[in-house]
Amino acid sequence: NSHLNPKYTFDTFIVGDANNMAHAAAVAAAGEPGEIYNPLFIYGGVGLGKTHLMQAIGHEMMNNNPQARVKYVTSENFTNELIYSIQHSTQKAFREEYRNVDLLLIDDIQFLGNKEKTQEEFFHTFNKLHENNKQIVMTSDRLPNDINNIEARLVSRFKWGLSVDITAPDLETRIAILRNKAEAEKLEIPDDALSYIAQQINTNVRELEGALLRVQAYSTMKNTDIDKSLAADALKALKLAKSKSGLTVSTIQSKVCKYYHITIADLKGKKRVKSIVLPRQIAMYLSRELTDKSLPQIGMEFGGKDHTTVMHSCDKITELVVSDEEVKQAVEELKDELKN
Ligand code: ADP
Ligand code: MG
Repeated sequence: NSHLNPKYTFDTFIVGDANNMAHAAAVAAAGEPGEIYNPLFIYGGVGLGKTHLMQAIGHEMMNNNPQARVKYVTSENFTNELIYSIQHSTQKAFREEYRNVDLLLIDDIQFLGNKEKTQEEFFHTFNKLHENNKQIVMTSDRLPNDINNIEARLVSRFKWGLSVDITAPDLETRIAILRNKAEAEKLEIPDDALSYIAQQINTNVRELEGALLRVQAYSTMKNTDIDKSLAADALKALKLAKSKSGLTVSTIQSKVCKYYHITIADLKGKKRVKSIVLPRQIAMYLSRELTDKSLPQIGMEFGGKDHTTVMHSCDKITELVVSDEEVKQAVEELKDELKN
């Protein structure tokens, strides 16, 4: 009901130099909500553990007090729910829902940029909660001052508490994260293989987890245990498959547009109607899956969108491929077509 991922707890969060300040602040906020850092503003690049850490605060608070009202929402969903409530005259219920919680977790707050109505609503939500000493935690890919087109009165409130960053994990932390993950998945992986993967993947934790999954899948396919040389082959195969496919983002875009009967301009544009948003998200997802382009590069090819938008789209479709038969079929058909 609080929409928390059960895996995102403090127990499963590995602490290292890159995140120890953020971790300490999160633990403190969970222990004495509303009392120490309010709001707590966690910022940093994609895939570095912001969402995980923020949700860990929610779990911890509910462990300490099962009655605690914890609400997690992405700023995009907050916006969508607000628009829906305006269209259906249910704004009162919307307000009650957000203004009567003990802990509000708002993820990826940078998406409030340019959204005046949502900023106005969030301003009042923030004030009400803060007045009542209710804990507010936000994440963002950048500092409050660097969020584009956001009201000064919000920026100043974002800085009332503590802003703390998470940076990319060092090698030792990456190894520790992999080891922990392997244990959780009951995978037997020798240390030299873990080190190898951690050395190869130095971008972010999300990519690290993805690499581990590839290695696992590769070992199943080859029906051999995981060792360093198998890990090397798996990661090489992944890189080769992507660069050799010769697929470009623009080929993927054309195919998706044809499939859904929409224009390239709409696909790259900003319209938020469902008939365009879904194809756009699928095209981003396929670009990520089938080319070796990075998130920012893909964002650029979709009319200069932020890398976090691409990431959200990928997450969304990954989810829908499992839960939505229609999306699953569309993705499969498109993949088949693109491979020929
Ligand atoms: P962000 O919100 O910063 O983009 P996430 O919180 O979604 O990143 O983290 C991406 C993935 O990496 C998640 O599966 C998360 O559990 C994992 N992760 C990130 N940091 C850590 C960490 N320090 N320890 C364990 N897992 C981590
Ligand atoms: Mg996140």
